[in-house]
Amino acid sequence: MAKKILIVEDEEKLINNLADKLRAEGYEVFTALDGETGWNLAHNDTYDLIVLDIMLPGLDGLSLCRMIRNDSKMSDVPIIILTARGTEVDKIVGLESGADDYIVKPFGLGEFLARVRVQMRRPSPDRTMRQDELVSSNLRLDLTGRRVFKGDDEIKLSNKEFDLLAELMRNKNAVLSRDLILTKVWGYDYFVDKRTVDVHIRWLREKIEDNPSSPKRISTVRGVGYRFEG
Ligand code: CA
Repeated sequence: MAKKILIVEDEEKLINNLADKLRAEGYEVFTALDGETGWNLAHNDTYDLIVLDIMLPGLDGLSLCRMIRNDSKMSDVPIIILTARGTEVDKIVGLESGADDYIVKPFGLGEFLARVRVQMRRPSPDRTMRQDELVSSNLRLDLTGRRVFKGDDEIKLSNKEFDLLAELMRNKNAVLSRDLILTKVWGYDYFVDKRTVDVHIRWLREKIEDNPSSPKRISTVRGVGYRFEG
């Protein structure tokens, strides 16, 4: 069955190009030219990936992204955000939109397809390392159900945030470089901006740390990468 992709983008030429390219690759593509239409389409069907432009007439892409993340039916769908060059990237980071990746305009169709493939490639369970749960103090990851609990409270994570946390917790007390994290979590490091790791670490800290500005669980090891304190 063809994988379904929803694109929300108000530039007609761009959205048509992206849709044509994805259809040629065998994906089933649905398009919306504004945020409200995008939300209705997102709500009425299930997709394997949603691509959102930030600047849209009416409901903007970041708001839409957060609405999708807060909807229990869609909270784990991979989301790629399209942004204009410059300050919007910081905006994505600052607003903790919950996207899995972002692409800065203008971008090539080849790069776009590569990023789409990364999101489509679900991490396959490693049978030799099969474990049902990862636990560290009051943090518990249910690997089978892909749920995270801090004490009794469930924490909602995006797919990539979950994979990142699982990778860090599997290797607790060891420093993981950004390159290693990209390879393990994103699986295809060439096309993903290294800053993506930093952005996801920041989002993760906001969700799991008691005080995100003074993180106790995920430490930054300057010039190297990150370490989960187990
Ligand atoms: Ca736009």
